[in-house]
Amino acid sequence: MHPGTEIDELLSLLTDTREQIAYFRELGVEGVELEPGIKHSVEITAPELKPQLVESSPYQPLNISNTTFPSRSPGTPKRRVQEHAKQSDTLFAELSCPPERIQKSSETFEEIWTDIGNCTRCPLHQERTNIVHTDGNRKARLMFVGEAPGADEDAQARPFVGRAGQLLTRIIEAIGLKREEVLIGNVNRCRPPSNRPPTPEEASMCKPFLLREIAVVQPEVIVVLGNTAMRNLLDIKQGITRVRGQFQDYHGVKVMPTFHPAYLLRDPSKKKETWEDLKKVRDYLDATRKRDN
Ligand code: URA
Repeated sequence: MHPGTEIDELLSLLTDTREQIAYFRELGVEGVELEPGIKHSVEITAPELKPQLVESSPYQPLNISNTTFPSRSPGTPKRRVQEHAKQSDTLFAELSCPPERIQKSSETFEEIWTDIGNCTRCPLHQERTNIVHTDGNRKARLMFVGEAPGADEDAQARPFVGRAGQLLTRIIEAIGLKREEVLIGNVNRCRPPSNRPPTPEEASMCKPFLLREIAVVQPEVIVVLGNTAMRNLLDIKQGITRVRGQFQDYHGVKVMPTFHPAYLLRDPSKKKETWEDLKKVRDYLDATRKRDN
């Protein structure tokens, strides 16, 4: 081994660590938590997990009944909602008993996308370059849902690839995951003119396809980014500022509302709250880890 190699490695490790700390700081992170049992001079105060989860209500109103599902490919099974039955054997068992759960769908994304086709169901098709489908790991434990594609996404046919997307990638990495490990989608798949929010009619045309994908993947947690995503997945009238940081329920799937990364770009002071919300997601996933991606 070249005598300089170890020093080079140490230096590169130091540089990586510095970069990591720099972007944690950018996200508003003010400290790190240690794994239980690790002896360290830093004192860890009360764990955050319990009080956070008490905020979760398994009895949030569910809006699946007023959802219309668009036509599906011949031969693909009908999506059903079954009466909730099984109590989870996790730490969170007492909280994970929603009245209805989504039954896992055996559709494929390709079948769903074939149904979408060269979609003209709503006016947003008129100005789109590309339909932007849900992207990422189809066995993900964690999913992020945004509003609709912007200019970069419309051009590249991938969700969250612009500036807001780059921030989202850093947020994902800050909770110890890689972007490829999670699933990322939007309520609407076509770019609204001037990046305005989709209208309720436009959202109601496109959302059913997202719900079908959710039924395929059955993520354990969905992070809804901003008001449009939150209000389309949950029957909630309040704004994101009031609801963020509190676990909600979508048919047995934990849903964490938080600020949209585009909003964080406009108001970086809100990154701290987003980091608090994402830590809850990370802690929940760590505590309920049961399947490998
Ligand atoms: N904003 C969104 O809501 N979705 C994207 O894909 C990009 C920006």
